[in-house]
Amino acid sequence: MAILVCGGAGYIGSHTVRQLIEAGEEVIIADNLSTGHRAAINPAVKFYECDIRDKAALKKIFAENQIEAVFHFAAYIEAGESVRLPLKFFNNNVYGMQILLEAMTECGVDKIIFSSSAAVYGEPERVPIDELDKTEPTNPYGESKLIMEKMIRWVNAAQGVRYVSLRYFNASGASEDGSIGEDHHPETHLIPLILQVPLGKRDHITIFGTDYPTPDGTCIRDYIHVVDLADAHICALNYLRGGGKSDAFNLGTGHGFSVKEIIDAAEKVIGRKIKKEFGIRRAGDPARLIASGEKARKVLKWTPHFDDVEKIIATAWNWHNLHPNGYEEA
Ligand code: UDP
Repeated sequence: MAILVCGGAGYIGSHTVRQLIEAGEEVIIADNLSTGHRAAINPAVKFYECDIRDKAALKKIFAENQIEAVFHFAAYIEAGESVRLPLKFFNNNVYGMQILLEAMTECGVDKIIFSSSAAVYGEPERVPIDELDKTEPTNPYGESKLIMEKMIRWVNAAQGVRYVSLRYFNASGASEDGSIGEDHHPETHLIPLILQVPLGKRDHITIFGTDYPTPDGTCIRDYIHVVDLADAHICALNYLRGGGKSDAFNLGTGHGFSVKEIIDAAEKVIGRKIKKEFGIRRAGDPARLIASGEKARKVLKWTPHFDDVEKIIATAWNWHNLHPNGYEEA
């Protein structure tokens, strides 16, 4: 039986497809290529260009293939945009989940691994954050992910669809061979934006806020390597196969790095200074987001391998150097 990866042409989806194939799984990708890249699709994989809001298209995939489980990465992700365009996010993310779950239940597919986010927590009361901490998203993106988690929970109770929701902290890095990596348009994430400076694509990096209640005044985040995130999905699949109980898990290293520390680490990796400027805070940014990843380690038997932020940045630097225009031809 195969694993259907919705959003398999995207950043985390494409890395997970690769891990699945390496683990000997049969994989099928569904992606509407709205933000994903055709060039990120593994050529060994059967690909359906389809939107998850298209139930007929999903049911066709379920009819033509024996699908054991769905990995669901297909969603909009940019928190800032979600504040301006909440309905765009509720349509693709929440309504998309509705249709996907309808198609799954109508076709008897009963396992889902869902890409959730640290954004479900909003402003944390304490760090490291654990899975029982309060969930109060501060933007429509986080709200959409929380609603999606809740939808799956209710469908689990009623129809028995089993799930693992994986709450990612800051996904970063790229495959070690540099063949797949991060390529968002527009790019909003810290590490690729920092690396655009030495690549000559940007004059400087702006630090969003230097007056946070942190040791150096800049925001602290938990940067987790994309290959480690991908691995967690395989662990989650095997956990469900082994009869594990449906649940949500944080995916992070448990270590926080400030924006300034990330810039310093990037300078070490590339061996040059990176021009920076100090700007105002970005709306909705919590001062500190650090995961407790203990539950995933214990219950899913997940072991992240990238424990060093310089190594993470080095894989991103390798990818961006090899593909200065991302997946577009130069
Ligand atoms: N950030 C920054 N300058 C940028 C982009 C991001 O200072 O040009 C900061 C941002 O305010 C946050 C951290 O870097 O504190 C990580 O932001 P990113 O957008 O990568 O991930 P998020 O934590 O928002 O998911």
